[in-house]
Amino acid sequence: MPLSPVVFQDMKIVQPEVYLISRPRLDYAAVASYLREVGGESWLERLDAGRLDNDALNLAEFAGRLCYRSWEPGLNPNVTRVRSDQDSYLQNILSSAHGSVLEHVSFSFALHNVSRVATHELVRHRPGTAISQESLRFVRLADIPFWFPAWAADDPELMERATDLLERMEAFQLWMAGHFGLDQAGVPFHEKKHKTSFMRRFAPDGVATGMVWTANVRALRHTIEARTDPGAEEEIRLLFGKIGELMRSEAPPLFGDYTVEDGAWIPRWRKV
Ligand SMILES: Cc1cc2nc3c(=O)[nH]c(=O)nc-3n(C[C@H](O)[C@H](O)[C@H](O)COP(=O)(O)OP(=O)(O)OC[C@H]3O[C@@H](n4cnc5c(N)ncnc54)[C@H](O)[C@@H]3O)c2cc1C
Repeated sequence: MPLSPVVFQDMKIVQPEVYLISRPRLDYAAVASYLREVGGESWLERLDAGRLDNDALNLAEFAGRLCYRSWEPGLNPNVTRVRSDQDSYLQNILSSAHGSVLEHVSFSFALHNVSRVATHELVRHRPGTAISQESLRFVRLADIPFWFPAWAADDPELMERATDLLERMEAFQLWMAGHFGLDQAGVPFHEKKHKTSFMRRFAPDGVATGMVWTANVRALRHTIEARTDPGAEEEIRLLFGKIGELMRSEAPPLFGDYTVEDGAWIPRWRKV
């Protein structure tokens, strides 16, 4: 459950949150038709018998098996044995760095109450990702939601000065909206957008906002490692710790090789 925002004096103190909002879904009828065509139906029967119903894992396995026609022994004259256990099959994909297979498997996350500090770093990761970010040209700031790490929240003088500053920034946002008459009847949207875009310049990098971030498993593995590293920025470390936890329970064979030390996610198989 997300934590409720805490109101400190008048301002909104928030916690960065991650929601896993989308995962792969296979069309098993189409998979079955394809397998009939190539003589690999026994793979689907094995999945059925083993109640292997995690579509993300099945998709990765499907892509891997297609590469070597390893649905069952004999389809490829070079292959006399095939792995039948999904966990060990996928571990072999990781250990042999057969990374392209993982690029078919994408997940989408709603990142909520994340600062522009964090999102600015996140958008630097490009291959295998997709991004839609809350527009502060369109969305006018009525307040400045803000995350404080625990060490900062424990410093009374820092909090007093920080909240005073943020409250004055919020008051300035409201003053500008009134000054520009944005809520008066008949103000065209392009004028609101123009002024809202100007007003956002007076929000700090730490303002909490939102983003949909999609990444395939290959990109996820890389960013979880890079962004939980002890040298990474603390908010993005927090976010990617949460993403790591979500993914480890979502697809254990693809994320179960990490050890977590002081918040750093260290993969057994790097650079897949
Ligand atoms: C400690 C630290 C300090 C940083 N400081 C700064 C800074 O001061 N200023 C700044 O601008 N950025 C900085 N960055 C950001 C950094 O330069 C990268 O842009 C960012 O970490 C994205 O990671 P990535 O390169 O692994 O790319 P991703 O987009 O995650 O790509 C994954 C992998 O794909 C390959 N790849 C991706 N794109 C290309 C490409 N165009 N050509 C060849 N191979 C590619 C690389 O192997 C890469 O590791 C910093 C990052 C760290 C971790």
